[in-house]
Amino acid sequence: MSSKQHAAILCSPGMGHLIPVLELGKRLVTHLNFSVTIFISPSSEAELKAATSTKILDIVQLPPPDISGLVGPDTSVPTKLVVMMRELRQVFRSAVRAMKFTPTMLIVDLFGTESFPIAEELGIPKYLFFASNAWFFSFLICCLTFDKEVEGNFVDHKEPLKVPGCREFRPQLDVFDVMLYRTNQQYHDFVGIASRIPKCSDGILLNMWEELEPTTLAALRDENLLGRHLTVPVYPIGPIIRPNDLSCSKGKVFDWLDKQPSESVIFLSFGSGGALLHEQMTEIAWGLEFSQQRFIWVICAPTTTTADAAYLTTDCDDESPLKYLPEGFVDRTKDLGLVIPFWAPQVEILAHPSVGGFLSHCGWSSTLESLTNGVPMIVWPLHAEQRVNATLLTEEFEVAVRSKIPPWKKVVDRKEIEEMVRMIMEDQKGFVLRERMKKLKESAAKALGEGGSSRNALSQFAKHGESMYMKLANVNVR
Ligand code: UDP
Repeated sequence: MSSKQHAAILCSPGMGHLIPVLELGKRLVTHLNFSVTIFISPSSEAELKAATSTKILDIVQLPPPDISGLVGPDTSVPTKLVVMMRELRQVFRSAVRAMKFTPTMLIVDLFGTESFPIAEELGIPKYLFFASNAWFFSFLICCLTFDKEVEGNFVDHKEPLKVPGCREFRPQLDVFDVMLYRTNQQYHDFVGIASRIPKCSDGILLNMWEELEPTTLAALRDENLLGRHLTVPVYPIGPIIRPNDLSCSKGKVFDWLDKQPSESVIFLSFGSGGALLHEQMTEIAWGLEFSQQRFIWVICAPTTTTADAAYLTTDCDDESPLKYLPEGFVDRTKDLGLVIPFWAPQVEILAHPSVGGFLSHCGWSSTLESLTNGVPMIVWPLHAEQRVNATLLTEEFEVAVRSKIPPWKKVVDRKEIEEMVRMIMEDQKGFVLRERMKKLKESAAKALGEGGSSRNALSQFAKHGESMYMKLANVNVR
């Protein structure tokens, strides 16, 4: 190809989707000298601001799709996302066709797979950016088989679900939230997505690195194991996360952190859309206070419905969510910690040397941000694939602890929270977890460095993109 490659990336709404897509775009520009155009349909001003703050990417804002007649008040977030992305296809198609130069490839994230035919119309290759880990990807690859094998709802299924060559999924603990009830539309939406991945894409970009999950990757590439269901290549190019931005490490929070001893502060955050029951917020507050450990806690208003209730909400209500904390909590803990309403500079906080633990909903970006900073975790999965991540962190990588009762089932009480916080912050167990985390931190840095596995995978992906483009150019007369 004489000119440079140009990726059109279609991004689903939601900050949790936008952040890794922007970072992927930046990496394609800086490491591979691609041109990148990202198509967004932001669900909030914050998303728009984050997207347009990057000078090296072309950002095209698509008008928000009108889904009012297609979803109801009880429609789940995943189904809403599927419907939004479906409704967006027409404007996306027109926007791509209106570009001065046709892109040389299309990349979509998990909710954008219904736009793969647009790449076919343009005669360009198409890739899925799966902004998560290989084990979760293996679940999606086996989804159609599970759909046939499991009778009734997954949640009632007693036997572990077998994935050739990989760790099995225990329905009660590990199965992707969205797939638990066959009676729910989101189940069928995901089976649909899963069916398009192996058939319609030319390759998969995974947000992890070769050395993190070697067994699962080997199974995905082995045609006697998972490779039976997947004929396209997988490229582990991660960790792709927002880098530490020193200009964000200023102000009250960082002045306070600078004064704390090394690795003495636990950070608590539940991502861009996670919400807790009010009762659970109260127990966490008491657990923290009893633990007497230093903390920074990002607080959002509690939910009365689902744990992902805050996802896709555009409005942070003006009232401070601090009012939901136990009376006197902020005052009593003023020498111990900080509470931050709504949103905090998470990457910069996790990178600060005073931070030594992370209580997290373990969304995959948050997980990677913890891994790359060597910070051990208390996992608190709430929705989406977070329970998959929680199992990886506690049982596969052994860098985290979790409550005895899954937090999505019951309220975890203050005593257990106090114990877990103490465990990772001051016990020998915490020390061991931290040492393992530091090894993963080194492994991630190596993968991203010159000659590292993720760098190599990225170059292989670029070569694949180029040869696919040429092959399609010979088939289609552009
Ligand atoms: N995040 C942040 N500040 C916050 C909460 C979240 O910067 O107060 C960022 C976090 O660093 C991560 C992203 O939002 O990059 C959340 O993505 P993740 O995959 O962890 O969870 P999701 O929001 O998709 O559930």
